[in-house]
Amino acid sequence: MSAIDTLPPLREVIKTHGLSARKALGQNFLLDLNLTAKIARQAGDLSDCDVLEIGPGPGGLTRGLLSEGARRVLAVERDPRCLPALEEVAAAYPGKLEVIGGDALEIDAAAMLRAPVKIVANLPYNVGTELLVRWLTPKTWPPFWQSLTLMFQREVAERIVAEPGSKAYGRLAILAQWRADARIVMDLPPQAFTPPPKVSSAVVHLKALPAPRFEADAAILSKTVAMAFGQRRKMLRASLKPLDPNIESRLSRLGIAPTDRAERLDLEAFCTLARDLKENPTG
Ligand code: SAM
Repeated sequence: MSAIDTLPPLREVIKTHGLSARKALGQNFLLDLNLTAKIARQAGDLSDCDVLEIGPGPGGLTRGLLSEGARRVLAVERDPRCLPALEEVAAAYPGKLEVIGGDALEIDAAAMLRAPVKIVANLPYNVGTELLVRWLTPKTWPPFWQSLTLMFQREVAERIVAEPGSKAYGRLAILAQWRADARIVMDLPPQAFTPPPKVSSAVVHLKALPAPRFEADAAILSKTVAMAFGQRRKMLRASLKPLDPNIESRLSRLGIAPTDRAERLDLEAFCTLARDLKENPTG
């Protein structure tokens, strides 16, 4: 492990502060600072950005973000055991790191950040998808963030970048690709983490588009997609029936085969359907 800063190696930090990993908090730590700096670089130039990090743990990725020159890092960590270790990182980078103890699902971090904002995190698996969906579905667009650089289980990463017709294609792909460019930028084997999780991981980079790819009402699109994929084996005329008793003729009018299944419908078709449901609520 090379020294990217003057702080002790992460194994020592973990030992000093008694940070044995807790499964309930999704704790799989990255201890290689070269690797965390590489993840930080996937977010691009950080020198003129505020970075929001969720779940800094013992601070491996935080140190990567700071050594890569982030203007400021705001880190939200739920495990109080980690806070003294993070204070040591803050002391080594005066004025650059602010640590907040608490649950990222409860804290309005956006209000504490100055634009432009990038979010970079090795997310706790138990709250990762929920946070992503929240960041992708604010009331107004563009959102408070410019890009998201996030570690997920490989299988979740594949669902975010999935194409129509694939098994992984579903709600996450549509929500992500509707308003962002999403790609997998790094793969990590279980051994990259301490303790190693059961599955491989991947870093996904999402860049917010200035406007959604196709016009649609976010709430209607979200509801339609959730309903279509909630019963993904059913034909659309059945899975979407609760939306409209005449769904079959509506779909035909829009050029969508009522006998297709949700996974065959691309983003544009879902947006066309969402627009039509708004414009002609009764079919
Ligand atoms: N960033 C560190 C790293 O890469 O080594 C730790 C990553 S670990 C996968 C996830 C971290 O998120 C843990 O430190 C855990 O305590 C924290 N965490 C779990 N649930 C959280 C929540 N709801 N809000 C904030 N942090 C949370």
